Amino acid sequence: AYQSTAGALNLEHDAARIKLKRPRNSHKGRFGSVAVVGGHVGMLGAALLAGRAALAAGAGKVWLNVLDERLAVDVFAPELMIRLANANLGDAHALAIGMGLGQDEAAQLALSHALGYHKASVLDADALNLIAHSPLSETYKTTLRTRTLPAVLTPHPTEAARLLKSSTLDVQANRVAAARRIAREFASVVVLKGAGTVIAHPNGAFKINTTGGSALAVAGQGDVLSGAIAALLGMDIAPFDAACLAVYMHGLAGDAYEAQANGSIGLSASATVPRISSVLN
Ligand code: AMP
Ligand code: MG
Repeated sequence: AYQSTAGALNLEHDAARIKLKRPRNSHKGRFGSVAVVGGHVGMLGAALLAGRAALAAGAGKVWLNVLDERLAVDVFAPELMIRLANANLGDAHALAIGMGLGQDEAAQLALSHALGYHKASVLDADALNLIAHSPLSETYKTTLRTRTLPAVLTPHPTEAARLLKSSTLDVQANRVAAARRIAREFASVVVLKGAGTVIAHPNGAFKINTTGGSALAVAGQGDVLSGAIAALLGMDIAPFDAACLAVYMHGLAGDAYEAQANGSIGLSASATVPRISSVLN
């Protein structure tokens, strides 16, 4: 399912690392834990979707560190543990940062707080916007460049344009070059989203995903993808492999919907979440 300069992923090998066959004596501590940092006032849904997707992709435990202090529980996913954005993140194996984060001062503090843990991390949406343009841009960039484990950045074309200080049109005109440039400049794995998602490694390697279609072109799908990547990072899967696998699975979930619905209309991000589990299983 990949066109690649770095050889196809060995999905059987990777499946073993995802621990698809969970032994009878499994306990939740074996499957990693994720904290989602985001969910400012008016944008809570983004953090909820990422958290639910992390659970669906097999994370043992998921916290939501949210900026909207009014959220106490997700009644449709009560297994999500909700706390404030700047609460301790030391207990999470992997972080998903930026879903509905906003860009105000509280958001900037939350991003600094989360990056300070140097955990396996996926950064999306407003985390990327703050890295591209905010008073702390250079600090964030330095933090990314000095990490031993590269972060995963998941820009859509317009977010990619902001990171490159270029235009969406230019990014789309040469998607591979854009993804590789961001990967090099930010020393991170880059997932340039949209049809034919490009996954680029800071060392220059890249893959192009061929699963997924226009059923995924709806609000919230990026949040679902970020949650799935974070779940795999929490299982100690390497950032580039976690990104490739999650993009591939997310695409398959969309393809399964299109096959069943005989069309691409009507798949919501929420309804995609359980399909991620189906694909994995
Ligand atoms: P976002 O723009 O952040 O909500 O992310 C949208 C998600 O849906 C990304 O994973 C995209 O790659 C995926 N997606 C959107 N449109 C398409 C499309 N036409 N074909 C394949 N995947 C898509
Ligand atoms: Mg998005």
